[in-house]
Amino acid sequence: MTTIILDLEWNGSFSKKAHGYFNEIIEIGAVKVGPDMQVIDRFGAVIRPTVSRKLTEWVTGLTNIKDEDLQDGTTFAKAVAALQAFIGPEPAAVLTWSNTDLMVLLENYRFFTGEQTIPFMGAYADAQLYFEQRQGLGTAQQIALSKVCEMLQVKDDDVSAHRAPDDCVLTARVLQRVYDEASLAQAFRPADADFYGRLTFKSSTLVDLKDPRIRPADLQFRCSACGRGLKRCGEWKLHGYAFFAAFRCGACGQEYNARVQVRTTYDGVSVKRKLVPKPAKETPENILKSEVENNGKK
Ligand SMILES: [Zn+2]
Repeated sequence: MTTIILDLEWNGSFSKKAHGYFNEIIEIGAVKVGPDMQVIDRFGAVIRPTVSRKLTEWVTGLTNIKDEDLQDGTTFAKAVAALQAFIGPEPAAVLTWSNTDLMVLLENYRFFTGEQTIPFMGAYADAQLYFEQRQGLGTAQQIALSKVCEMLQVKDDDVSAHRAPDDCVLTARVLQRVYDEASLAQAFRPADADFYGRLTFKSSTLVDLKDPRIRPADLQFRCSACGRGLKRCGEWKLHGYAFFAAFRCGACGQEYNARVQVRTTYDGVSVKRKLVPKPAKETPENILKSEVENNGKK
């Protein structure tokens, strides 16, 4: 399978034509790389936008692309046809720096050509995620390619940052530093129905306690002081996408506030639970008890 690194620049705008916010691709860059991550061949296409003809200041600032630079640009359909010709008839293994580019590419295919999947892609790996794993970094924060080039002192004075074909070259240089064949091969996922299902899955919060995806055990808690099952002392209430209820331990008397949030995932649901002890009440008995305890420590 041919391996390619893809990078896109796009212009985001609110558009009636697209029925909402749409990220319209204005440049596609790609490089073919060998098994050693050396660049074999390059591709670049500039697209003249049709959904929103005006580039946002943010895009112009980032990429240095101006409206007039796109006047001689091609259409999305022609650009991806040329990309397909560059890649060849066999499906390619595709790398992008974070899967945002992949999402935007899919969105543009669906909007402009009606294709529901990326036709030339046989397998996919997220180069950013792979880099973070190889370096033992947390994957919570999305690390920018320019930052990584700085970190690794990757040569970048011969390319222009945030232009698609050049960002592909930089990604290849970063990968050269960190990859090994076995782990990179493992990072690729086949671009099948399951892959697209995961990529485009939109998570939501469950707001109905009767939803069968919420299990009774998700709504039960144990006393963190004595380990016994807690008794709920009021109704569950929904506040800002989470359920709240008060609990009390029948054995030791400790009171709690519990918070439960259930979000849908591609594989089912994920549940976040939190149990916070309420501060002890200032009853005469408690005050006396704490005074006795404090005196005992002296
Ligand atoms: Zn207890």
